[in-house]
Amino acid sequence: MANAELPDDAVVCSCNNVFAGTIRASVTEHGCTTLGEVKECTSAGTVCGSCVPTLTTLLNKELERSGITVSTAMCEHFAHSRAELYQLVKEGGQQTFTEIVTAFGRGRGCAVCKPVVASLLSSLGTTSGRLHSPVGEQLGSLQDTNDHVMANIQKNGTYSVIPRMPAGEVTPEQLLVLAQVAIDYGLYLKLNGAQRIGMFGARLDQLPEIWRRLVDAGFESGHAYGKSLRMVKSCVGSTWCRYGVQDSTSMAVALERRYRGLRSPHKLKVGVSGCARECAEARAKDVGVIATTKGWNLYVGGNGGAQPAHAQLLIEDLDDENLVKCIDRFLMLYIQEADKVQRTARWVEDRAGGIEELRRVIVEDSLGIGEELEAQMANHVATYEDEWTATLDDPQRLAKFVSFINAPGVADPDLAWVPERGQMRPAHEMDQHTAPDPVRARALASLSLGATSPLGDSVDGEEIR
Ligand code: SF4
Repeated sequence: MANAELPDDAVVCSCNNVFAGTIRASVTEHGCTTLGEVKECTSAGTVCGSCVPTLTTLLNKELERSGITVSTAMCEHFAHSRAELYQLVKEGGQQTFTEIVTAFGRGRGCAVCKPVVASLLSSLGTTSGRLHSPVGEQLGSLQDTNDHVMANIQKNGTYSVIPRMPAGEVTPEQLLVLAQVAIDYGLYLKLNGAQRIGMFGARLDQLPEIWRRLVDAGFESGHAYGKSLRMVKSCVGSTWCRYGVQDSTSMAVALERRYRGLRSPHKLKVGVSGCARECAEARAKDVGVIATTKGWNLYVGGNGGAQPAHAQLLIEDLDDENLVKCIDRFLMLYIQEADKVQRTARWVEDRAGGIEELRRVIVEDSLGIGEELEAQMANHVATYEDEWTATLDDPQRLAKFVSFINAPGVADPDLAWVPERGQMRPAHEMDQHTAPDPVRARALASLSLGATSPLGDSVDGEEIR
């Protein structure tokens, strides 16, 4: 169901328990006309912010119903939507934010338009052969903090390190490297929902040292910080499973290597299952591939998250070559047409003609743009570079990895930790009032922190700085 059609009793903001009907009433009864007014009136979207796209859709729909023209402007600096700006820059060939805002906008930009411009320049840069690294000199300063330092900032100001593990595969030798790095830097390890290992608790200044060791062990950026391909999840498929009808793992590895680093309006997730039992949950992904005895069924437009959506069947029984061709076209069309931070599910829902029209464009090439979309993806594949490897070779980029600009050699002295279930986690306010816990004490006793651990000596049940 499209967001605009949500029933009045559907919860839109789970943080503050605000219903779709309350959002509609804020427009029709209280006269709200902007997102800020709706937030203030209902308190929706004021905590985690994940419902803001849905709020915007509901607001715009109600404004349209009231006969008010809805602006598609990206922000006060650009009167165009993201898709319109993408086409303008594609045709105009501008290469920097300054050139773009001078040609098509006004002012100096903001936190809304700068990352969008960085993203579309990255996409256009790689698709046209003009390489724009999303984290390089030109675009790095436009990015959000996470893209800027190629790591996700955590609630205590430390960062996560998430290397790519295509299709969830990792060798024993690589696992040993991850374990040793975690021990040496006191990092917390957790398998995440993307079939890979997340390492948490690294200081900004430690990121290059950690990544040097990971790159030397054959790892590369997992782009967990970017609006780009995150991962391709797969089951073990016909290689190991009695029910498998295709080699889903090899297909997933091939797809992950093809689309890694591809910048897009929002994050992208892909899944490949080796049979209809669907252990990889491919239909919950932006692109879902499910094996059949004749080839692969391709699904598009699925996601989990706040507004879950099942992917819809685009075409059945594709061979390997045509599967890749269809995914190339789908992803490139999405990158060209979608609004800022719009997932594929909402884009497919909102697109005129829905899945049937999309099938005509992608499969039947009704617009005659199939070859162009494929060529753009081929350029992306040809110009891909690992962002962390490139950064480690560039002293200018490395210079930003300091905790304090005015005191580059000083680490943050205020980080506090507590042991929990055999690992370390950030301390929070309640920890100061926690009585000594025998379970925690046993976990602490079993901790084996390396001599170079930045965590220092541990004290039973207390914070460690
Ligand atoms: S999806 Fe099918 S092939 Fe893959 S693990 Fe499950 S049962 Fe086996």
